[in-house]
This record gives sequence, structure tokens and C-alpha cells, in this order.
Amino acid sequence: MNPQSERRIALISFHGDPAIEIGREEAGGQNVYVRNVGEALARLGWQVDMYTRRVSAAQEEIVQHTPGCRTIRFSAGPLEFIPRDELFQYLPEFIDKFLNFQQENHLVYEVVHTNYWMSAWAGMYLKKVIGSKQVHTYHSLGAVKYATVENIPPIASQRLETECKVLETAERIVATSPQERAHMRQLVSTKGSIDIIPCGTDIQRFGSIDRDAARVALNIEPDAKLVLYVGRFDHRKGIETLVRAMRKSQFYGDEKLQIIIGGGSVPGQSDGVERDRIEGIVDELGLRACTTFPGRLSQEILPTYYAAADVCVVPSHYEPFGLVAIEAMASGTPVVASDVGGLQFTVVPGETGLLAPPQDVAEFAKAIDQIISNPEWRHKLGEAGKRRVQTKFSWDGVANQLSELYLQIIQTPTPVEKVVAPEAEPAFSK
Ligand code: UDP
Repeated sequence: MNPQSERRIALISFHGDPAIEIGREEAGGQNVYVRNVGEALARLGWQVDMYTRRVSAAQEEIVQHTPGCRTIRFSAGPLEFIPRDELFQYLPEFIDKFLNFQQENHLVYEVVHTNYWMSAWAGMYLKKVIGSKQVHTYHSLGAVKYATVENIPPIASQRLETECKVLETAERIVATSPQERAHMRQLVSTKGSIDIIPCGTDIQRFGSIDRDAARVALNIEPDAKLVLYVGRFDHRKGIETLVRAMRKSQFYGDEKLQIIIGGGSVPGQSDGVERDRIEGIVDELGLRACTTFPGRLSQEILPTYYAAADVCVVPSHYEPFGLVAIEAMASGTPVVASDVGGLQFTVVPGETGLLAPPQDVAEFAKAIDQIISNPEWRHKLGEAGKRRVQTKFSWDGVANQLSELYLQIIQTPTPVEKVVAPEAEPAFSK
């Protein structure tokens, strides 16, 4: 076996820049995943190149994170933020830039790990052109998403077709939870090879500060009852459920109750619109005095918020994994989450938190109250959550499993019929 130190891997994350600030529109779990997987693989000796689309002239083209791990940005289409449903048309330009860069720098990638469906499309094309093998992580499944949204975008059929094809042709698919794998099998295809490797979290960062110190740092009283939400402002994150649950809570009107809704937003963009809507509901329900919106919380300050909270609420309508839940648990804080997707995998009801049916205001209120009103139990749940994350969800553990997977794939000979001549033009249908 060749030493891992000679291995080079490309992580493609076309729309999710691993080097960007997290917590604003279109920058969430995928960006965190790619960045942390990349850095942890580099610690194992891989040379990691993470490829993404450049969205402004002010952005550096290459960001060196650590000696073995860098982000490489290519302009494809206008140098500006473009919502992901409108990005597919710029993929050929991105792939051309990738191929040129690879040639000019004499880079050879035996494995390309793609993230989200547009990158999957790029990975399938590269397979034909440079013979690279493909590992793919979905981050979100069109078949699940389109079942829950009202407006299906025109790109939907392209996405669904790509998601099916990559499942059937990639050397390996990474599902981040058994629930995600089940959805792939039920809704996408029964063909293809799926491994379960979860998302991870930084267990040094989250868990680095205790509750008392965190409350002092944030100027929160020791006996405050603190309910925390962290994440993007997106209708499907279910923040409305949390807010309405707090109106039903037995602690409604209690002067010790505090609600913090953390996450960035840009006025006029879709997250800004959702934030305005949530603030409107907060006002209407008489919760304004006890609710704060601190805006985007940096990864540096987040551990303090999680540690200070009595409970972290993840009320998403759906979540393929849900990093916020494991970040809170790693910080010793119990989680009340929707009983869906990856949250059913990470949160163990009665042991590390509680699960409630999505959008069920009464059940969320009940679960939150149960935890806040019993500090001893809350502490026990928090400690158990911390242990669970430390043993199952560290980035180094995740990267170890991915590294093993890449090596297995590299060592498996490519069947002769899979080596195909490059096509003159990508089979690119808009
Ligand atoms: N996040 C952050 N600051 C914020 C809000 C969110 O750093 O103000 C991070 C959060 O810590 C987590 C990620 O964004 O790592 C959200 O990931 P998750 O899987 O929970 O949701 P997604 O955004 O992928 O839907």
C-alpha cells in the first residue's frame, strides 16, 4: 500500500465555499463539512484541494488553510452570489477551469469527492474525462426537498436525474445517517453502493467552556431559562414552530425566560425576509421582551452560546444530518429536535434530549418545558450528549473513515468497461 502522505484528493463543492463565513444565506452545514473533512484529511497526510465557485472579485483565488489543505476558487458565470437553483448553467465553465488548473499544475486525482448534486454532475463528467473515481455526499436530496416545498424550481428534473445517476454510478455514496440511506433507497434508486459515515464536529471547540463561564461571558444570569436556536433563516428550519411553542410554554411570561435566535441574514434576500417574518410573529405573540436576535454567530463564539443554553432547539421540517444538534450536544446542552432524518440518528430521546413531531407546536412546548423544569435531568442529558458526540461524531473519526474508504476505492481495479473515452462535449442539458 502506498503511504497516505502521497495521496491527493479533490473535494468539489461548487456552490458551498469551504473558506467562506458560515451562518448566512446558502452557507451552512455543507461548507462546514467540506472544510472540516478537508482539514482533518490533511492531518492524516492527504494533500487536499477543495474546489468551489468564486462569488466576488474581492475573494482570493486560493486560500491555504493548513500546509496540506487549500480552497481553490474559479470564476464561473458572473462574479456575484447566485442562488443555487440558478447555478447549473455555469457548471461547464467551472469544469473547464478545473481541468486547466489540474493540467497546468500536474495534479492527479484518483478520487474526487463531490458534494451536493451539481458537484455530482461535475464528478460524473470528470470520471469520463480524467478517469477519476467518485465518492459523493448529497447533503440534501431533491426527492425529499420537493415533497415539502410549494414552489418546485425549473431545475428540479435535472437535479432528480443527476441524483439518481450518481447513486447508480459513483464508486461509493456517503450517507450521513441511516435515515438518509433509507431515503436514497426508497426515493432515488435501489442500485449503487452506500456507506454510512456521519458528519462530525470539532470536539475541542464545542465543549471548551462550561455553562457558568459561558453565562458570565454573555452576561446571562445564572438562573435564566435560556432557549437557543442556531441556524439559517429558512422557512424549512421551522423557527416559527419554536417561537409558537414558547407562547404555549409554561414559562411564557416568566421573567427568567430568554430566547436567543442566532443566525445571519441579509435584508431583502430570502433569509432577511424570513427573519422579518419571524420577528413579526415574535411581536404578535408578545415575546419581544425576552427574545434576542444576535445575528450571525461566528464559530469562535458559538461554543459559548451553546454552553450557556438550557436547551438547544432544532425544529427543522427536515434535516439530512443537522450539525447544530451535535454541536449543542458536544457543548453539554440537551437538544429538542424534530423527529426527522439525521436528527433521529444523533439525538437519543430521553438520553441526550427529546424528539417532537415536526411543526407540532404543542409537543415542542412540552419537550422544552420538561427539560427546563428539571435542571438535574437537563444536566444528565447534557453530559450524555457530550459523551455521545465525543465517541461517534468527531471530525478526526469521520476523516479516518473517509480516508479508509478512499484507499479501498483506489486499490480496487476499475472494471474495463468503465474506462470510457472522453466525450468531445459534455452531455450537458439545461
Ligand atoms: N452556523 C454558524 N453561525 C450561525 C448559524 C449557523 O456558524 O450564525 C453554523 C452552525 O454552527 C452549523 C452550520 O452553520 O455548523 C449549520 O449546519 P446544519 O447542518 O445545522 O444546517 P444547514 O445550514 O446545513 O441546513
